[in-house]
Amino acid sequence: DVLSSEAVDFGSLLLSGPVLDGLRVAGFQKPSPIQLKAIPLGRCGLDLIVQAKSGTGKTCVFATIALDSLIVENLSAQQVLVLAPTREIAVQIHSVITTIGSCLEGLECHVFIGGTPVSQDKARLKKCHIAIGSPGRIKQLIELGFLCTASIRLFVLDEADKLLEEGSFQEQINWIYSSLPPSKQMLALSATYPESLAQHLARYMTDPTFVRLNPTDPGLIGLKQYYRLVRSHPLHHKIFEEKVQHLFELFSKVPFNQALVFSNLHSRAQHLSEILLQKGLPAACISGYLSQDQRLEAMAKLKQYQCRVLISTDLASAAKAEPTSRGIDAEKVNLVVNLDVPQDWETYMHRIGRAGRFGTHGLAVTYCCHGEEENKLMSIAQKCNLNLSCLPDPIPSGLM
Ligand code: ADP
Ligand code: MG
Repeated sequence: DVLSSEAVDFGSLLLSGPVLDGLRVAGFQKPSPIQLKAIPLGRCGLDLIVQAKSGTGKTCVFATIALDSLIVENLSAQQVLVLAPTREIAVQIHSVITTIGSCLEGLECHVFIGGTPVSQDKARLKKCHIAIGSPGRIKQLIELGFLCTASIRLFVLDEADKLLEEGSFQEQINWIYSSLPPSKQMLALSATYPESLAQHLARYMTDPTFVRLNPTDPGLIGLKQYYRLVRSHPLHHKIFEEKVQHLFELFSKVPFNQALVFSNLHSRAQHLSEILLQKGLPAACISGYLSQDQRLEAMAKLKQYQCRVLISTDLASAAKAEPTSRGIDAEKVNLVVNLDVPQDWETYMHRIGRAGRFGTHGLAVTYCCHGEEENKLMSIAQKCNLNLSCLPDPIPSGLM
């Protein structure tokens, strides 16, 4: 898997014993690429802007930094404040922090979101090291004097792009920020980094350190990458037919949720979607030949679950500027197939980056012919240091 290419484990990050034990309890053996980069910087006390796509393990980044710096004996005052845009995310963060913090005796970590009486929150705030909450409720609790901000040392904005987007929580967050002590560490984590977010964060952090992944680093957790050699044939349409046979085997053996299939040629993509529809598999096709509206319609079908397989090309005229693989962002996709080996490593990375999001166990399978195509794939694998295995034949159950 992606993680095994890194020799480093959590033990070499100089974390405290209980935090290392907690990471083991969480089942995290090795840091993901973003964790490897961001945790040591965060432990040095730097303000960080961590930008990496969903599913790269950003929660564990700030959970580890927060827990490793915690003074558990000091129970009377909050030390860490985490803001999240939704109730679900706040609850999820709480679960990650309490798991990684399970070996820190006496840890008090609580969620503060709307919908429950503030009197209950008041009681819980009497003993609380780490407070996680929605901006609205946290602001209210500070205003009421229930949440004392004087001893907060670490302020975290998870999903900072959502928290600070137009029309969301900007005002509340400005207010909360101004109530915090000036000498605190701040972490902002985000999947995207639009200009508006940069402007907001510049008000909060004077000299932040940016942490991002290398372009060759998919950083995805739980994505397995395979390739299958296909008997080469001088007649191109035969190659296509053979690859389609392989694809059907894959579809029948792997319990995928939704799949993206990439082909280098528009005609093949179109043909394949027709074949799939005939076989009763809801499929749609997008390529640079279609209008923007038609592309959006196909994307909407995928997102609304009206189609299970989206077939795409990135050989549009403006392929380099905006390959369709880049625009696709569907969270239920856990299988990506390259019917043909992509033209270059950037395209490969953009394509496979569409699977295995949110820590789901994703699969990427590339079909290639002996010879030129095989060589191309191997050079991409080398360039990007991919952990690429040969797809077992026959495909065993439990591959995904
Ligand atoms: P993000 O916030 O970047 O979208 P999450 O923090 O939600 O990502 O993590 C995605 C998934 O990866 C979660 O299911 C999480 O449990 C898992 N995960 C995080 N770090 C590791 C790790 N070091 N080893 C294994 N799994 C991990
Ligand atoms: Mg997250």
